[in-house]
Amino acid sequence: MDRKNILIVFLSVIVLVLLFKLDGASEKCEERTKQLEERLNNLEESLKEKDKQLKQAQEENKKLLAKLKDIEEKIKKANKALRRKGIKISLPQGGIYITDPKDINLYTKKLELNLEKILKTMQDYPVGVPLYGRITSRFGWRRDPFTGKRAFHSGLDFRASYKQPVFATATGKVVYAGWGKGYGKMVKIRHKYGYTTLYAHLYHIKVRSGQWVRAGQIIGYAGSTGRSTGVHLHYEIRRYGKLINPIKFLYLNRRNTF
Ligand SMILES: [Zn+2]
Repeated sequence: MDRKNILIVFLSVIVLVLLFKLDGASEKCEERTKQLEERLNNLEESLKEKDKQLKQAQEENKKLLAKLKDIEEKIKKANKALRRKGIKISLPQGGIYITDPKDINLYTKKLELNLEKILKTMQDYPVGVPLYGRITSRFGWRRDPFTGKRAFHSGLDFRASYKQPVFATATGKVVYAGWGKGYGKMVKIRHKYGYTTLYAHLYHIKVRSGQWVRAGQIIGYAGSTGRSTGVHLHYEIRRYGKLINPIKFLYLNRRNTF
């Protein structure tokens, strides 16, 4: 072979080698492209999934917010009803505008605080019954069971069973615990906002003068001591010393339903 032929063969070999390499590279390239496409698809899928989850979460947040708003309305209603009964509780005005879902926690906290404030304040007012029993005599003018003459009844009488527990209707300080003329064994408690409550004809007194009692605490047991015709509880409420009709405080939700 002459030099020209040798050169041609040599060049041909080089070209073949290059072609072979190029082919391999393009195969690798194709494989890589496929991999990348697959990853992209996966990413798109998970992005869609995340988007769906986000929308669901937003939807749930909306529902939760609506529920909280509903609770806020109920708190406002309760507050209004109490105000009509003369129970004043000052609650912060207006709701919190939610821009960030995290604020829902703040909003919930606020509602909770309002509710706690209502409950706490209500314990300072003589609200509810001092004993579970039927009312046998109401407040006001009536025929006296002893003399048969017209006489003013200064409180409510509850039918009771002997030694039935009697509860303080509000938190306060016992200002008298002992014998009272006509009242028999009695307890008088001074509360906030000028209120005092009185529980009479007790069989036994469980508290002492000067003692602090909580709303709902047992202060004694029903009996028939003093000027009494049978086992019952005589219950009085005064505001700044003036007698008021306790019936107003017994059934807080009878007329103003929450
Ligand atoms: Zn009475």
